[in-house]
Amino acid sequence: MNAQHAANSQLMASNRSGTDGKPVVAIYGELLDAGLALLAKRYDVHSGGRSAGREVVLGLIEGATVVCSDPKVRTDAELLDRCGPQLRLVAHFGVGYDQVDVAACAERGVIVTNTPGVLTAATAELAVALSLAATRGMFEASNELRAGRWGTWHPGAYCSGQVSGSVVGVIGMGRIGQEYARMMRPFAAEIIYWNRSPKPAAEADLGARRVELDELMKSADVISIHTPSTPETHHLIGAKQLALVKPTAVLVNTARGSVVDGSAVAAALTEGRLGAAGLDVFENEPNVPEDLLAAPRAVLLPHIGSATWRTRNEMSRLVAENVIAVLDGEGPLTPVPGSPV
Ligand code: NAP
Repeated sequence: MNAQHAANSQLMASNRSGTDGKPVVAIYGELLDAGLALLAKRYDVHSGGRSAGREVVLGLIEGATVVCSDPKVRTDAELLDRCGPQLRLVAHFGVGYDQVDVAACAERGVIVTNTPGVLTAATAELAVALSLAATRGMFEASNELRAGRWGTWHPGAYCSGQVSGSVVGVIGMGRIGQEYARMMRPFAAEIIYWNRSPKPAAEADLGARRVELDELMKSADVISIHTPSTPETHHLIGAKQLALVKPTAVLVNTARGSVVDGSAVAAALTEGRLGAAGLDVFENEPNVPEDLLAAPRAVLLPHIGSATWRTRNEMSRLVAENVIAVLDGEGPLTPVPGSPV
């Protein structure tokens, strides 16, 4: 148990019920010190602890004025009703809030906030790392070395695609998509993007060219996905789109698993119709489908896009700052679309 975990467990043990009339803030799992310290000074803080699942969270939140949610437990009508009518805020840890039923919150007058911006660089950087690692076959080559199979040198040994000079395709040109494009600019021969609305600033700053999704799939050497998970983006990239790509193309997903049909990606890799894939997110995390685990040329990561100490502390701080702003009556700092403010 590290110091952070110990601090959370201590709070969990000592603050099971509100005292001194302080508002109760229930944290589904944990918050890092940068946020936890701000909250613990002002409120009765209850934390579920690192491995808290839905049952633990349901037992934790009754009477809470604020819940600090995270992606591992869905915040739905049942959970909101368990909190009670005094609930004012769902302060979500993460920019993607697909695990929060915003409509159910709005019906109950509950504000929803997320943590945009502070995780943009870390997530874009991971997408760049996956673009390079998947294109260059780094993990498979490293595994060969570790397995003692590094054999005779020959000109074709461990040859792969190359990122420099490639056409980079960005799907979803929001904060992270634009930062990824900026980071990839020195490598790319051209940046093309697909977004539901045009992004003139990205076009001017990065020389990015907006194209239809089919054209992006056909033209790009590296395709990186940065849309949120919504009903409209569910399986946005499936068998039909993968049938269009160059057999050397590399697909990177650091957005959400539901945006991509994982089975279609596994089939395209196995049948040699897709060059490589770098996936940080999956549809039913933490379960990773067998066909993807077995697929060749796939770099698979356990959803670590924002997982740097600096970024996770900034996310924790922004969660806490939203709580303080709402409970001080100043209004939320970063409400999500559709939230009451
Ligand atoms: P953002 O700034 O809101 O950008 C989202 C982009 O997707 C925008 O360009 C937006 O287009 C587009 N979009 C939104 N809804 C869409 C829809 N229904 N159909 C098609 N396009 C749509 O968000 P961000 O900060 O870049 O974050 C993007 C996503 O990355 C998050 O939602 C989250 O799921 C994911 N993420 C993952 C990790 C990780 O750990 N792997 C970390 C952080 C974020 P408009 O400009 O037209 O609105």
